[in-house]
Amino acid sequence: MAARSFEKSERLRKLPPYLFAEIDKKKKAAIAAGRDIINLGVGDPDRPTPLPIIRSLQKHVEHAPFHQYALDQGAPEFRRAVAAFFKKRYGVEVNADNEVIGLIGSKEGIAHLPLGVLNPGDVSLVPDPCYPVYRTFSWFSGAETHLMPLRAENNFLPDLDAIPADVWRRARLMFLNYPNNPTAAVASRAFFERVVGLAREHGFVIAQDAAYAEMYYDEPPPSILEIPGAKEVAVELHSFSKTFNMTGWRLGFAVGSAPIVAALAQVKANCDSGIFTAIQFAGITALEQYDELTRPIRQLYRERRDTLVSGLRSIGWTVPTPPATFYVWIPCPAGFTSTELCTKLLDEADIVTTPGVGFGSTADGFIRMALTVETPRIKEAVARIGSLKLPPG
Ligand code: PLP
Repeated sequence: MAARSFEKSERLRKLPPYLFAEIDKKKKAAIAAGRDIINLGVGDPDRPTPLPIIRSLQKHVEHAPFHQYALDQGAPEFRRAVAAFFKKRYGVEVNADNEVIGLIGSKEGIAHLPLGVLNPGDVSLVPDPCYPVYRTFSWFSGAETHLMPLRAENNFLPDLDAIPADVWRRARLMFLNYPNNPTAAVASRAFFERVVGLAREHGFVIAQDAAYAEMYYDEPPPSILEIPGAKEVAVELHSFSKTFNMTGWRLGFAVGSAPIVAALAQVKANCDSGIFTAIQFAGITALEQYDELTRPIRQLYRERRDTLVSGLRSIGWTVPTPPATFYVWIPCPAGFTSTELCTKLLDEADIVTTPGVGFGSTADGFIRMALTVETPRIKEAVARIGSLKLPPG
């Protein structure tokens, strides 16, 4: 008897098409054809992990007890290092025993948190544009999403006054992400205060994604946990990936409300068996040497950011200077959608960029460039864009 043909789950079939697919296909074809592509598309640091972190892993990988399952919410030593970092960086006391949990990269925590918080019929408040995992796992939890547009005129913060009363009543989770991918915006303490007040009033959980918290240029951005009362309603998700050039290592942590951390821990206990302990110990080295290790990384991105922003301005584009992240969020020149502009840049200048629409329909008037190539290549990219003679942005 012929086997019934496989059909993937309804959950997967309901996901919107992968909006970067077309550009991705073109990019691969261009690389295969041997074209000299400048890739400003990926948010993945091009420089290696700093040597002290690598050395720390090399040392700890030889320790046999670390070869076993890493059950628990992260090694106690790792959680204590996170608590010490939080005290030093933000002035916030957190209890390493029950307010900290290690993550296999922050994406893992972002994906699993909704499964521990949401029920079918609940509303998850999700920014638009956003890192797509917020939407996907809110849906996988059976919840509805209510999109909160992020617009330039509101400094890419959600307009909290525009959210209807009946949505507030059903809201059980709100995702925030500051410093923001893709818009590079930062949130003030005043904004966080307002959201914490609303979460306490309406009874929803705040998941503040702080993956870019250490990638800033001037003022270090605040943690939402600095706000009085936040610790009862919020968790903040942090990542080693961009901060220390460690995307491939898969290491992050969540900090915040003990019962919310416990719910996340319960989801994780049912599906993963912890983070390789040697990686956690290398993470301790990273946190202990945070100041020395992150300063040169920030300096590098500052040089690249200033090169790209001033270069694009010199050819007539309107480009705001990003205060944080390694992204530059650029309004499209007149007459272009984000996909049209990215396609033109790839076809005619061999430059890969990311269309805003891939992060949400609100962002179709923008493209994102990542500062993940060396400065001479950024200059080359600007020269190539200049030769296209596009109308001003
Ligand atoms: N959050 C945002 C906003 C991101 O852009 C990314 C990665 O690009 C992540 C989380 C995931 O980072 P990690 O490597 O810690 O899983």
